[in-house]
Amino acid sequence: MAGTFRNLAVVPRMVFGRGAFGQLEEIVSKARGGPGDAMIFLVDDVFKNHALASRVPVGKSDHLVWVNVDVEPKTVYVDELTQQARSLAGGDPAGVIGIGGGSVMDLAKAVALMLNNPGSSADYQGWDLIREPAAYHVGVPTLSGTGAEVSRTAVLSGPVRKLGLNSDYTVFDQIVLDPDLIADAPDPQRFYTGMDCYFHCVEAICGTFLNEFSRAYSEKALELCRQVFLETDVDRREADEKLMMASYCGGMSIAYSQVGACHALSYGLSFVLGLRHGEGNAVAFNQLEEFYPDGVREFRKMMEVQGLELPAHVTRDLTDAQIDKMIEVSLSMGPLWENCLGPNWKNEMTPERARELYSRM
Ligand code: NAD
Ligand code: ZN
Repeated sequence: MAGTFRNLAVVPRMVFGRGAFGQLEEIVSKARGGPGDAMIFLVDDVFKNHALASRVPVGKSDHLVWVNVDVEPKTVYVDELTQQARSLAGGDPAGVIGIGGGSVMDLAKAVALMLNNPGSSADYQGWDLIREPAAYHVGVPTLSGTGAEVSRTAVLSGPVRKLGLNSDYTVFDQIVLDPDLIADAPDPQRFYTGMDCYFHCVEAICGTFLNEFSRAYSEKALELCRQVFLETDVDRREADEKLMMASYCGGMSIAYSQVGACHALSYGLSFVLGLRHGEGNAVAFNQLEEFYPDGVREFRKMMEVQGLELPAHVTRDLTDAQIDKMIEVSLSMGPLWENCLGPNWKNEMTPERARELYSRM
């Protein structure tokens, strides 16, 4: 009989600290099988003309591949990058290092998995479909909030749907958490990605799946988010350290619980309107007072303190067919709604209610 409790796979090694990026070379060199083994660095192309570019420790046999995440990761892009990694390395590379936000980290996880599993990444969208362990893979966040650095999923849009490669093998072998790397992240992106962490924790804490493991991490992450986004005199360098740890704790929290209504509705917005994850969440969450009254009030306060405004009326010009698609995508996220509303969620979260919520966004 399968166990009742989730046997959680976690990142086995991590470094945290300002300047920790400087240790990447030493860390990666220990993971090489031999001197000729190639590592593939997948780096967000936003850093092309940035000082970080020259600090990426690309060794003689390694390759740096600039990746573009103007649109969030797709399975076809993962398949292309996997081929590219193989041809650059002249065979299977020794490992993959992803340097960027949640999108690049997810690409790195997915490429590492696909190096050792046949077919297309689209074949593995779902839960525990991956058969073989991934190549060695390292995550280096340059934005904080998604928790992608600790999660067991790599979220991808495929031909049929947006769904992650969820498996124990997806989890990074190593993460390098250097708060200096998020120092230049511009608003509103920094805020939206940071709020992803806040929403993960509000949804977890208000959810029916909550347990003390998840609560402990959520409470800490929420406290850190409040210090970062509500206090006006917080030092930016300190704030970056706090935000990086908030993201880690938020990721650990949902690893043992689940997100809820905000993410379920946000998936529909991303699918039909192409809104980025963080922005879609913020637009959705702002209309969810009936589910998360305290959270929504606090979120609006954070926006006010940060001097930011949300895009308005994003669903106004959609056709009925587009709205129907959004509702379908959202209501297909059963576990999220169950976490929010309990096992009989379908009685409460009807298509009509989803339509009404979307119409307010
Ligand atoms: P992102 O990685 O999509 O990046 C957003 C934008 O910021 C991009 O244009 C990127 O180039 C830029 N950027 C990244 N770092 C920067 C920096 N330091 N300075 C300036 N610009 C920078 O953003 P995100 O919010 O971190 O990630 C969202 C993605 O993560 C989505 O694809 C979502 O599906 C995924 N996600 C994954 C998980 C998971 O557990 N795997 C959880 C939540 C979200
Ligand atoms: Zn999220």
